[in-house]
Amino acid sequence: MKLEFLGSGGNSPIPTPTCRCEVCAEARTEGVPYARHGNSMYLHDLNALIDAPEYAFSSLNRAGIDRLEYVFLTHWHPDHVNGLRVVQSRDLRSFFRNPDRGLLDAASEDRPTLVTTRAVYERTCETLGSLRHFVEAAGFADTHFLDEEPLSVGDYEVSAIPYPLEDADTEPDATAFVIESGGRTLLIASDDARYLDESRLPGADLAVFECGLFEALPDGTPLLTDADRSFLADELRHEEVIERIERVDPERAVLTEIEHLYARGADEYARLEADYDSIRFAYDGLVVEL
Ligand SMILES: [Zn+2]
Ligand SMILES: [Zn+2]
Repeated sequence: MKLEFLGSGGNSPIPTPTCRCEVCAEARTEGVPYARHGNSMYLHDLNALIDAPEYAFSSLNRAGIDRLEYVFLTHWHPDHVNGLRVVQSRDLRSFFRNPDRGLLDAASEDRPTLVTTRAVYERTCETLGSLRHFVEAAGFADTHFLDEEPLSVGDYEVSAIPYPLEDADTEPDATAFVIESGGRTLLIASDDARYLDESRLPGADLAVFECGLFEALPDGTPLLTDADRSFLADELRHEEVIERIERVDPERAVLTEIEHLYARGADEYARLEADYDSIRFAYDGLVVEL
């Protein structure tokens, strides 16, 4: 399995337009790995994009990816779905070269399949009004709901572990993915996974988790007010993610969803990484093989 991190950022890109903080200034002059697109990944063997932030078109181009068969959706938050217009990406060579071939025929062929749970799809349609039109009227994408049937492709098996975003007792409106192939297991729970039921997680060769919130600068200066902390109460803190990794005990873990508000540049994550055994921080373009 080959997993590529197309974007390792969070809600805002780094650099964030108009921000002149040190992290953004460094990203502006140095580019990657200091600069980060929003959180998305690409699983090469399945030609699968995992989440579609606003940067989906440019991230796929930047990575030189020329096939898109699946789009996995972890949850409906705008920073993970606002790039879903990427399901309109098509190879239009046959349309350009063949005068008998119409645009609609070309667009309805080779369409990608959205892979998620029915609840995440329905919730995404609420937040992104155009999605239902794309899928159900225009036919730009198919759907496959993992809560109804796991996805089997060749020797790949993809299943869902649904979880709620806001409260352990609410309807699951997000999902983790378990991707198995050739005796290897990839676990992806890349954002807002506080209420993910750890007892359901498999032993994984690689787990992708969120980086988790830093509430202070590296020198200890607090960043958040009490009001901020209560607003962000559903976010896992970085220390909690590390504790989760100790409990779940994957062979390796990569942390992504590295937010602008954490106020840390790539060098700082490299310093942190040196303290951990099998934990890495993602950067745009990181490729992990398992
Ligand atoms: Zn900034
Ligand atoms: Zn989210």
